[in-house]
Formats: sequence, structure tokens, C-alpha cells
Amino acid sequence: MKIMLFGPQGAGKGTIGAMLSKKYEIPLLSAGQMLRDAMKEGTEVGKIAEKYINEGNLVPPEVITNVIKERIVKDDCENGFILDGFPRNLEQAELFGEKMDEIDYMIEFEAPRELLIHRLTGRRTCKNCGEVYNIHPDCDPNPKVSGKCDKCNGELYQREDDTEEAIKKRLAIYDEETVPVLEKYKDRVVKIDAGDNPQAIFERVVKVLEKGSQ
Ligand code: AMP
Repeated sequence: MKIMLFGPQGAGKGTIGAMLSKKYEIPLLSAGQMLRDAMKEGTEVGKIAEKYINEGNLVPPEVITNVIKERIVKDDCENGFILDGFPRNLEQAELFGEKMDEIDYMIEFEAPRELLIHRLTGRRTCKNCGEVYNIHPDCDPNPKVSGKCDKCNGELYQREDDTEEAIKKRLAIYDEETVPVLEKYKDRVVKIDAGDNPQAIFERVVKVLEKGSQ
């Protein structure tokens, strides 16, 4: 099963993607996390990506498309994959070419802007394993111990691009660049209400994958 998750930052693509990955035993390929890993490892791609990411801009389309193309041919993608955060614009969709036709499900998460900004300003990411938490009591999941990852005890940090200024810029880029991709594939895209808790959103997506509708 090949799935693409669309939606603005903070809509829950990463969180729900991880839940789907566990249920269907297919890898979650988060474009942003792959780039952050490359930055951490200091690879060529990481060096190119760094300044774009920290300023909240998209990395060049050929760079990210090659990263994704190289990733999806690995053995663990044999039974499918979940793509989170790719393609982010029409150019990337074009470069992905006929692989776009092989996608079984395109899911779009929708949530009100104020909620996205609220979720993103509370978001904290594990420096070590990339696991994502939220420090706002009304957002899931809160870390069990403040500032520490439940899974690996790594330190939690606020991403440079999760500040209010960078978030607003990223949301504007989403409207300008990603919304046209959703328009282009509108006959294949299923919209999901992503305004409440992760379990409810997850169940809606599973219904779509298993029954074809919510
Ligand atoms: P995310 O973790 O999805 O919020 O992505 C974080 C950052 O990584 C984005 O703001 C971009 O700088 C970069 N990025 C992630 N995915 C893509 C993509 N498909 N195309 C270009 N840049 C990307």
C-alpha cells in the first residue's frame, strides 16, 4: 500500500503517519525528517538543505525528489510506504513522474489555522530519534518527563522552524505551492477532518484505507 499524506504543518501527518506505519508495517518516510537526519549526519544533501530549512523555505525540488526516489527503492518499501511532506509543489510532483500514478491513497488533513499554530508552537522534537511531542496540555502527546523523550530519554528541543514567524511563512508556502498539487489531483485526494485528537483522526484514515470512505 502506497500512501501520500498531505496537509499543512501541524495537521498531524507525522503523528498519524507513525500510527499507520505501525498498523500496516510499512515505513513512514517523512521528507522533513529525512532532511533533518541528513543535516545531523552532515551529508552533501544535509549541507544544501540546512539554510533552506532553517529559514522555513523549501529545499530545491531536484534535491528532495532524488532523496525520496532513492529511499523508496530500498527493501523495506517492498510492501509500500507512507510519504509525509512530499510532493510539496507541482515541480516535485512532475519530477516524481509516473510514480505519482502508483500511489494508492492520497489523504489530505484539514484543520483550522489557529489550531495549527497552537499545535506547532507547542511542538517539541527529540534531538536523538526525531519523536514528536507537545508541551501544551490540550495537545497530544505530552512527554511523561518534561524535556525528555519517552522512548529514548533524548533531549527535546523546539525546531528553529517551529517559531511563530517561521510557521506563518511555512503555512503561506503551503497555500502557494502545495495547494495547487491538491487541486491537480483533486479526483484522487480524500479530505480528512484533522481538528481533534490523534486517535479519532487515525480511525478516520483507517476507514478510508479499508472501506474507501470515512
Ligand atoms: P516538515 O518537517 O515537513 O515541516 O519539513 C521541514 C522543512 O523541510 C520544510 O520547511 C522544508 O524546508 C523542508 N522540506 C520538507 N519536505 C520538503 C519537500 N517536499 N520539498 C522541499 N522542502 C522540504
